[in-house]
Amino acid sequence: MKNFEKSIAAYKEAVRYMPGGVNSPVRAFSNVEMDPIFIERGKNQYLYDIDGNSYVDYVLSWGPLILGHADDTVISALKETIDRGTSFGAPTLVETKLAQTIQSIVPSMEMMRMVSSGTEATMSAVRLARGYTGRDKIVKFIGNYHGHSDSLIVDAGSGLATLDINTSPGVPKSITYETLTVPYNDVEAIQRLFENFGDEIAGVIVEPIAGNMGLIPGKKEFLQKLRELTTQHGSVLIFDEVMSGFRCDLHGAQGLYGITPDLTTLGKVVGGGLPVGVFGGKREIMKNITPEGSVYHAGTLSGNPLAMTAGITTLTQLKEEDYSNISRKLDYLSEKVQASANRNGIPFTIRHVGSMWGYFFTDGTVENFDDVQATNKDNFYKFFNYAIRNGLYIASSPFETSFLSTKHTDDDIEKTIQVFSDAFKTM
Ligand code: PMP
Repeated sequence: MKNFEKSIAAYKEAVRYMPGGVNSPVRAFSNVEMDPIFIERGKNQYLYDIDGNSYVDYVLSWGPLILGHADDTVISALKETIDRGTSFGAPTLVETKLAQTIQSIVPSMEMMRMVSSGTEATMSAVRLARGYTGRDKIVKFIGNYHGHSDSLIVDAGSGLATLDINTSPGVPKSITYETLTVPYNDVEAIQRLFENFGDEIAGVIVEPIAGNMGLIPGKKEFLQKLRELTTQHGSVLIFDEVMSGFRCDLHGAQGLYGITPDLTTLGKVVGGGLPVGVFGGKREIMKNITPEGSVYHAGTLSGNPLAMTAGITTLTQLKEEDYSNISRKLDYLSEKVQASANRNGIPFTIRHVGSMWGYFFTDGTVENFDDVQATNKDNFYKFFNYAIRNGLYIASSPFETSFLSTKHTDDDIEKTIQVFSDAFKTM
């Protein structure tokens, strides 16, 4: 069992200065009965806290670190770049280089704009869809999370679902009135919505592989229906691949399913652990962004050279990566953990897509937010408490996804299977 003495003291100090002691709510562990753990450093698949405890990390900074912490190549590229300065607010070669690298992997992004977070990417994509179509209504899916901009924190997953906040105070009703929400994976519901509002809908934004209500892959016929309806009604289809991009497959969900959206948003992996978001897509739509068009977008640190460098170095390595190695490890993990749950009589489901993996304490189907709500949360929290005290750093909420890096070894997987098995025995 681990000792968290220094983290507990650090948290007492932090809460004096920051709401909940953190700069993003899920880090506070406020839904589980413990104080958050303060991190000192990370290397590859491991995380080390200020009390000297170590963990096999499956959070990986909530997705970005597909190469693990402090990847040698990324760090040396950053060291070389930082000596030339940290920000210029003027064009640099690395911005074009990252754009070229992204386009070589995600060809539907004919033009793009760099920003500093996933939230900015989705917020800007929504504005662009509205500006391009001259319409106001946006469709999103219940339990999908697209960052914290006003139009998109309606019926959202991730931290809002964890804290049981439906829609945040402070967002004017006149704005959320323009956001229509529908259950995920529900072909009939979206069909009906388009029958009623089709010609008022500027765009549909979707996590093609949902990772913010646990891991729920979109059904192919559902995503195809979105493509069909948006084309029919002249609405913009936005794939939010902030999480799934370069994770479920090198070419993202759009590559995996063979469905091409009009716009794509990226974040997390694309910044290699530095703050980057990207929105991009069809040239005809993207050219409406300022200064070519009049849909306003700007950013003091957009295209920051350090962030671009981390992104280029990460994506260049990923182009050489065999994603089936990652999948093979998760196939094995899933098979063993599921068998152990079955042996212990624990209702449980585990799944993965590429390097994203997730589990639910239920043996029922989980295809949408209501299904996740019906899973056994007590068992989840028991498992979390056991795992974190036994060397696995995992998300503290059933509304999150787990990740694997290219650095996790077969030994890490064996250890993880053991922790799951031991935890099941305590339930
Ligand atoms: N979209 C998706 C699918 C996400 O998972 C997230 C973050 N978890 C965001 C948007 C928002 O990104 P950020 O936290 O970088 O603002």
